[in-house]
Amino acid sequence: VRFEVSRVMDSIEQRLTTDVTLAQAVVDLSEVARFVALDGGRVINLLRVGMAVDALGRYLIDAGAMLYPVVGRELLSEASLTSKERMVLGRWADDGLIEVTPVVSDRPVEIADFTGLPLIAVKDQSQFAQRFPWLIDSPERTLMLTPRTGGAVLTPGGAPVPSDSSAPKVVVGKATLPIVPLDPPAPPADPVDALDDSPASQDGPSASQDGPSAESRPDGLKSFTARGAQRFTRTRVVRRRFTRAEPSGIGVSLMAREWRCSEPDCPAFGDYRRIGQPVPRMRAGIPSCPKHGEPVKDIGARPTAYAVAIVVDDLARRRFVVTQDHPVVVGREPKDPEAGISVGAWLHEAAAAWISAEHVRLEIQEDALIVVDTSRNGTMLWRRSSPDASAETQRIRRKAVKLGSWDSVELYTGVELVIGDHRLATVVGSEPASVLLDAPTVASRLVQQ
Ligand SMILES: [Zn+2]
Repeated sequence: VRFEVSRVMDSIEQRLTTDVTLAQAVVDLSEVARFVALDGGRVINLLRVGMAVDALGRYLIDAGAMLYPVVGRELLSEASLTSKERMVLGRWADDGLIEVTPVVSDRPVEIADFTGLPLIAVKDQSQFAQRFPWLIDSPERTLMLTPRTGGAVLTPGGAPVPSDSSAPKVVVGKATLPIVPLDPPAPPADPVDALDDSPASQDGPSASQDGPSAESRPDGLKSFTARGAQRFTRTRVVRRRFTRAEPSGIGVSLMAREWRCSEPDCPAFGDYRRIGQPVPRMRAGIPSCPKHGEPVKDIGARPTAYAVAIVVDDLARRRFVVTQDHPVVVGREPKDPEAGISVGAWLHEAAAAWISAEHVRLEIQEDALIVVDTSRNGTMLWRRSSPDASAETQRIRRKAVKLGSWDSVELYTGVELVIGDHRLATVVGSEPASVLLDAPTVASRLVQQ
């Protein structure tokens, strides 16, 4: 069991970050860890963070959803935690995956204010509404975490969700949630509700001279358009949900700068931090380190960074960041596993045959996100001027193109790269897998409920 719990902790760890570009919601970690009603178990349990991650994944319909946890310093030595849990927390703190601060207070709300991220809360937050009026004025920005059969659910504004007693009990880790069958393909009644499906351009991909014979290769144009009819069944569930607000004015100016803590080994603003920065905490009007409390120094403009999501079969699977200093190669099996992102795990045979080991490179030029095709078969761009504009397709091969914020990059039908949270569509019934898959103790406790 201990081994499996370690694996669960590793899965949870991959979904935690204090990089404001990558994060999709902020939470007070100890509130969640102490939320006994989630599973009726121990007074404090780190596995509940996994339930919050799962709830965020289901809310966003994003199997790679990333959480920004804030934790009070005292939790790292909390006696009610197991020694294993304290060790894991210490590692997360050192790696900058969670933010440690002496007093949590309104820090999660402040991060939500500065970044526009949704705030996940267990309790009412109106005590902080004087500084942050949006807690009252924009209730949808607060996602209340509540228990629901076999897990947790997030509800904007805190309105309780009526539990559906007719729904089958769900066992985390042992069973999958029911998959709603897709509606039969039909033309969209309301064009706004369906992804535009303009046919691929005339010069769609065609089998090239190199590589295996034409018979064993997927047909070029079909690779991109075969699922055309199915596209009509997509809906824009994600865009109807609150995902992010505009950052506050002060947040915009804080996130425009790179900050340095006077403690060189500071996990938040130190010299050795390897991931993108969080936002400083404002103390008496001075940007300060959330961990050390000292003012942080403005060391220049923050490098431009973009979050990119890998979307396979309309379900976001993983998020990563492209920065000026770190271009990212995406493909079936990039040579450098550190700097590259592999989509290999999600590919069926035809897609794996089509997508190159290093298919595209994403990089930043003059603050814009650029896609460079490095593949054998080419890459399809879906270009949109706005979320509701119809897409125009453009096939690129061995060239670099600037991406607009509503454009998507298709490596193969159903395998897309999408900027930020700008996913237009998702299949109803898609269900992100749980990070608690290997937690038998949690699963057995939940099944008894
Ligand atoms: Zn510091």
